[in-house]
Amino acid sequence: MSTILKFKCPDCGGEKLIMIQGVVKGYPVESILESIGGCCVDTTGEEVDVHTNHVDEIYSYTCAGCGDVLVGDDDMPVTEDKEVVEWVKKNCPQE
Ligand SMILES: [Zn+2]
Repeated sequence: MSTILKFKCPDCGGEKLIMIQGVVKGYPVESILESIGGCCVDTTGEEVDVHTNHVDEIYSYTCAGCGDVLVGDDDMPVTEDKEVVEWVKKNCPQE
């Protein structure tokens, strides 16, 4: 038997959970400068999508309302289904 669990953000009360996966934003490096005052890497400022080698990798789960990331008991972002279940059971009131 299985149970549908409800996500409810303890911080903002939001009920929408977002899975963050696969695509990150990148900024192309334009110049790499070495100087006595301090080194400086400049980017073009133009945002590009970067598809990492780990497209299926889940980076985190975050609340759609306040952007809070679900963090497990080990202080690491929750990435596995089992961890999401544990987190929701612990942090969200279920009727
Ligand atoms: Zn929230």
